[in-house]
Amino acid sequence: RVKAEGRNGYRFFEEEMHKSAQSRNRLINELRESVARGDFELHYQPIFDAKTLQPRVMEALVRWRHPSEGLLQPGRFIGIAEETGLMEPLGRWILRQACADAASWPKGIKVAVNISPAQFRGPELFDAVLRTLLETGLSPDQLEFEVTESILLQEKEENLLLFRQLKNIGISIALDDFGVGYASLGSVVSFPFDKVKIDRSFTKDLVTNPANRTVVASIMTLAAGLGVQVIAEGVETEEQLDYLRSQGLDLVQGYLLGRPAPAGLNEWVGAGPAGAPQGGHHLACDGR
Ligand code: C2E
Ligand code: MG
Ligand code: MG
Ligand code: MG
Repeated sequence: RVKAEGRNGYRFFEEEMHKSAQSRNRLINELRESVARGDFELHYQPIFDAKTLQPRVMEALVRWRHPSEGLLQPGRFIGIAEETGLMEPLGRWILRQACADAASWPKGIKVAVNISPAQFRGPELFDAVLRTLLETGLSPDQLEFEVTESILLQEKEENLLLFRQLKNIGISIALDDFGVGYASLGSVVSFPFDKVKIDRSFTKDLVTNPANRTVVASIMTLAAGLGVQVIAEGVETEEQLDYLRSQGLDLVQGYLLGRPAPAGLNEWVGAGPAGAPQGGHHLACDGR
């Protein structure tokens, strides 16, 4: 009996493995076709000046228009894209779309594009960036890249060179999800970042967890020493916002202040949530 059950259990396990491998393969094929067709859209989430609460940056966040499952969040497909070589063509699509969108925005608002480590190597990225800027007419000082600590773990010299090239033409670079990666503090401070984004996990229990407040305070000290700006991501409550502003953070982002939305529906760079004509929403508010 025990043996029989063991066998059934094993067969069940095998079947499940087979099914999940099949559904993964199906997803890979669908992703490949969608990358070839450009079946994605970018939503933009604002990042605000913490003092004035004016929007400064729009972060581009990719969504996949899946053929049958509707709009999929990046957590469902970025990892697969990275493992299958699809992140490079997808990343080129994202960069081009983001730059094309941002070219028509007010000059004081940048676009931030998340760059995967899978895209970040060799001269290809720099060439693609130059070409995209030329073709879309976006000014390089309106473009920001968000990279995670994982970029600091490999090919340091090569990545440092690429950083310098990007910065030389006016692109700014933010370190995303800071505090949860594996890079050494030494390597973080040796890279010329313009901004660090404190990971959402530290913003989350800020008001109730003294350890998180200590993390924020030490990142503020570090950033002041390095001369870089600090962004808090994942701000969801007034209490968190008040605390972060009292600590002198430069920039804030989160559902409290604005959720990701398609450019055309975006309150700051599009028509606004009510679907008013371009700029109409704010002109109306200003009473002009
Ligand atoms: P991320 O770059 O750290 O982006 C922040 C994520 O947190 C976004 O999720 C955003 O919608 C979400 N978020 C923003 N504010 C809040 C908040 O107040 N509360 C909570 N709970 N969540 C908030 P999303 O769009 O699902 O993206 C997840 C991750 O996928 C991103 O993390 C980024 O690592 C990756 N990703 C997204 N778009 C791209 C892209 O175009 N290229 C690459 N390479 N990666 C991307
Ligand atoms: Mg990001
Ligand atoms: Mg982030
Ligand atoms: Mg994050």
